[in-house]
Amino acid sequence: MSATPLLMVPGPIEVSPAVLAATSIAPPSHVSAAFIERFGSALGRMRAVWGADAAHQPMVLAGSGTLAMEQAIANVVDPGDAVVVVNTGYFSDRIAEIVTRRGGRARSVRAEPGAAIGADALRAELQAGPPPSVVCLTHVDTSTGVRVDVPSLAAAAKEAGALVVVDGVCATGGERLDMAAWGVDVALTASQKAIGLPVGLALSVVSPAAWRARERLRMPPALYLDWMVWQPIFEAYEAGRPSYFATPATTLIPALDVALGELLDADDGASRGMEAVFTRHERMGAAMRAGWAALGLDLLPEAGAEANTLSAIRLPEGVGPDLPARIGKRGVIVAGGLHPSIRHTYFRVGHMGWVTTQPELLLRTVEAVGAGLTDAGHPVDVGFAAIAVEAALDG
Ligand code: PMP
Repeated sequence: MSATPLLMVPGPIEVSPAVLAATSIAPPSHVSAAFIERFGSALGRMRAVWGADAAHQPMVLAGSGTLAMEQAIANVVDPGDAVVVVNTGYFSDRIAEIVTRRGGRARSVRAEPGAAIGADALRAELQAGPPPSVVCLTHVDTSTGVRVDVPSLAAAAKEAGALVVVDGVCATGGERLDMAAWGVDVALTASQKAIGLPVGLALSVVSPAAWRARERLRMPPALYLDWMVWQPIFEAYEAGRPSYFATPATTLIPALDVALGELLDADDGASRGMEAVFTRHERMGAAMRAGWAALGLDLLPEAGAEANTLSAIRLPEGVGPDLPARIGKRGVIVAGGLHPSIRHTYFRVGHMGWVTTQPELLLRTVEAVGAGLTDAGHPVDVGFAAIAVEAALDG
């Protein structure tokens, strides 16, 4: 067992050596020339990573993913507005709660844990009640490992005239995203997931239609969350000018530029940039699933809805929720269940970001899970699982 445990929870994640080096600097001033240049570059790179175009506004706030959720809702929902939440788990419940606290009238189209929701179910819900001004989607709900099909859901929401807010906290930078082409209006995430940084940045990109909704709001957002307060700041940084409203996270933002640069520079020989990143996550996700299947494990998500960024895996008969602790003793940190109604029946393994460039770390993870299962009195053939992972990687 290696001395340093490998962090394979679904965020925070292991970061690349270049990102780690970028965070290990003396704190820069927010108006230094070097910082201004990195911030401006990071904002431009966000558009490319999100699949946004020049008319979309990137937003970078110090905070975690929940702050990005709060910011999105505070800028597009007025008290009394109807909002439909496509609810695939714990984080969909969270955005519904944020809408309710803003005074919006949230209603959910809800899936059983592990099930996805398709465009037909959303269409039925859109017609069942007052037309919503906003539809919220959780691209990958980290509590269930379910990925929804954002393009078809966004199209259904658009047919009904609603804005589309996508929580991509466990997806952006790993799962396919083409914000402009898909008609997504706010695409938000946090730095500590597939983007590949430590915790601390709430990231979002905003469409012109969402911006108009902000302009029409009757009740302005809290000052720190207000897009209209931040937009001139980001515009100045992109133009190479210093600016100040509230101190940006000056250590993390240069590292953000490095992390986004790594994504955009990806090259697997067959494809480049985000296409290479998405294909890599698809390949690595499939390899992890091959490993779980070879260990005799079942997944929580229904077939076809499995995220590539994490696996939510059912505990086999007779194995208790202490399995993650046993796996931890084998040098790999994985997560327990999170969805309140089934928390003790499954566990979760993240496989997003830098680790997807290191197949041997994914292999080490599958082996540690196999060893943990054996320690828990559920013997499995770890060698067979390793062969299955390698075969999937080679295939
Ligand atoms: N949404 C999703 C899908 C998440 O996975 C998370 C974090 N696990 C959040 C929102 C909240 O992000 P944070 O913990 O950074 O506030």
